[in-house]
Formats: sequence, C-alpha cells, structure tokens
Amino acid sequence: MRFFRGMALRNRRSLIASQQLITLNFQLRSTNVMILMYHHVCPIAEVPVAEERRSIEGWEYNLGPEDFAFQLESLRRRKFRFVTLDEYVRQAVESDRGSGKMVAVTFDDGWRDNYDHALPVLTRLGIPATFFVVSGSMAGVAAERRMTPPMLREMAANGMEIGAHTRTHPNLATLSDDHLDDEIGGCKADLEEILGQSVRFLAYPGGRFNDAVVRCVQRHGFRAACSVIPSGRNDPSARYRLSRDVFTPQMNTWRDRILLVPGGRWFWRTAKGLI
Ligand SMILES: [Zn+2]
Repeated sequence: MRFFRGMALRNRRSLIASQQLITLNFQLRSTNVMILMYHHVCPIAEVPVAEERRSIEGWEYNLGPEDFAFQLESLRRRKFRFVTLDEYVRQAVESDRGSGKMVAVTFDDGWRDNYDHALPVLTRLGIPATFFVVSGSMAGVAAERRMTPPMLREMAANGMEIGAHTRTHPNLATLSDDHLDDEIGGCKADLEEILGQSVRFLAYPGGRFNDAVVRCVQRHGFRAACSVIPSGRNDPSARYRLSRDVFTPQMNTWRDRILLVPGGRWFWRTAKGLI
C-alpha cells in the first residue's frame, strides 16, 4: 500500500514539474516584449563637430537613418509586432500578459533630426513611436537643433505620441516638490497647449528619479513613465520605471543577440543576478 502511495506521490510531483516546464518553455519560446530607446537619427555628415556638441545632447546614441531602418526591419523580420506605448502599457504592464513578440519605439529630448530623419523612416515602415520632448530650453543647446511646435503637431498628426521630458532637462532627483511640479506638470501643460491633446507618458531626463519624483508624476496623472534601466521585466510594479533597451547599430553583439531571442531577456537577467 505504502509502495502505491509513494508511486502516486512521485507521479503527481513529476506531473507538476512537467507542467511547470511546459509553462516555462512556452514563456521562453513565445514572449519577448521591449521598449527601445533612441535619441538622434542623423547622417554622419550632419552630426555637429565635437567642439559644438554639448554632453546633454547625447550624440553618443546617434544612429544613421540606414542603421535605424535596419534595426526596425530586422525586428520585423524576426516577427516583432510594433505597438504604441499606450498599447504596450495596456498589454505588458496592465494585464501582465506581455503577449508574443512586441516592441515599442521611444525617443528622448525632441531633437530636430527626429523630425528630419526618423519620422520619414517610421512613416515608410508604418511604425508608431513616442517622442519625449523637453518643452523649455536646454542649457547651451541651440534652438535650431530642437523640434518646433509645428513639427510636434505634424508628428502627432502622423500618429506619433508626444510625451513629456520636463521643461529644462534637470536632474529630477535633486529637486524640491514645488520645482518638480513646475518641471513635470509644467512640461505636460506646455505640450498639451501646443498639441491640443493629452500628454500621457513621461521619460526621466538622464533616467534619474526617486520616490518623490514618481509621486509627482502620479499626481499629474501620467499613465506611465520610462527609465533608462536596461533589460528589465516590465511587470505591473514597473509602471513608473519602465525599462528600455539600446542596441548597437547592427544589433550584433552577444548582448544584443541574447536580448533578441525569446527568453533571452530572462536569461540575461538571471545571468546578471537581477532576478
Ligand atoms: Zn534626455
């Protein structure tokens, strides 16, 4: 009798273990959701010379238009579905399903080259993107490097989402509550005035934030906010610190390759001791 009970217990355990393996296998094979972060899309000939660049401009993140198109096309060849940030948040964060291979494209700062060189590629490929824009001035940065209000309106009219990136690109983690309200709520109000529509998402300048910053973002009614934390799992707890990824131009480093395969993100985080 004891022998049969032991058999039954063993069978049940192995059944549970095999079900867990099937579930894990399914997740690894079917799920890969991510948010891409870009700054500049600019041909090399138009990139300012070193003396004319400010570190705040993030030129180290520049991609030529061909590399930008290459990245989007290779993701599409790999069967990634391009979604708006709104759709991404609904599926990956709010329902925690994170179904299939899904990617949302984002840009930080509001550079003029986004309008000149990224928008035509996105329009040609029928891919939506979110542009996080600084609504005021950025210290030492020439106004002609930035998108103008008519350009932002044209972006929105072409199905692009305009998000907030504060008024002056400060380190938010150092500011008082009043100053936070001005940078975060003020930027939202500025952009809503320009666009005549609601601004729902925000990206933290330089990825810097703390609890007070998150509370301010929530107080002003943003749906979600993006960080620059790489390779994360954007579960419901990550709504106000969404992880974003940056790939090398040809997406051909080991890290790039691992993150691009389903289950790779989980593997990368495990290998780095992040979970
Ligand atoms: Zn920025």
